[in-house]
Amino acid sequence: MIKAVLFDMDGVLYDSMPNHVQAWYETMANLNAVCSTEDFYLFEGRTGESTINIIFNRSFGRNATPQEIESIYEKKAQRFIELEQPGAEPMKGALDVLEKVKKSGLQRVIVTGSGQKSLFEKLDKHYPDFFDRNLMVTAYDVKYGKPHPEPYLTGLKKADILPSEAIVVENAPLGVEAGRAAGIFTIAVNTGPLSDTLLRDAGADELFPSMTSLADNIEKIIQRLSR
Ligand code: MG
Repeated sequence: MIKAVLFDMDGVLYDSMPNHVQAWYETMANLNAVCSTEDFYLFEGRTGESTINIIFNRSFGRNATPQEIESIYEKKAQRFIELEQPGAEPMKGALDVLEKVKKSGLQRVIVTGSGQKSLFEKLDKHYPDFFDRNLMVTAYDVKYGKPHPEPYLTGLKKADILPSEAIVVENAPLGVEAGRAAGIFTIAVNTGPLSDTLLRDAGADELFPSMTSLADNIEKIIQRLSR
């Protein structure tokens, strides 16, 4: 019996990845680090610390200090806020998916690596009545981040359910990996520029090209898995 759908946020509920990627790229390129915009699509789901250390090791042969990590992450977050003006862009089709999940009687859980301060206000504004603050996993709840199963295992714990009672919706290869590592049926939606192959290789159980297309199929999937 399926009891809940665990939703990633960036690239699933919000069309926010281009701005996150641009903010990361500008911040790291300003430090003369070796990186491309594609790197940041591939790293999506990692903690800020993990992303910074991968680029630091590649560029400078060392980890960043805690002070550097704090300062870089702060700059990136500030740039993201500027780029996101006048406001966050909800992902097309996401509201439809949420409505169908709610109508099917399933809980909705957020599992994001994001630590944006405005996260709750954003969700309240664009998706009112779909989420409960006690059923959210953010950057503040996890130590390892995706692709480690920890964020999704924490989501299961908050919802008090088993892996077999959940579905994950993810757009990032590392997020798909995390969902599968937690033992959960994982649906990938390819809302970005990476190839489908990366999402399939990460272990996606189903793959859709958009949230609109997932909205057309989500009820069938829930029925099938609940049998
Ligand atoms: Mg995502």
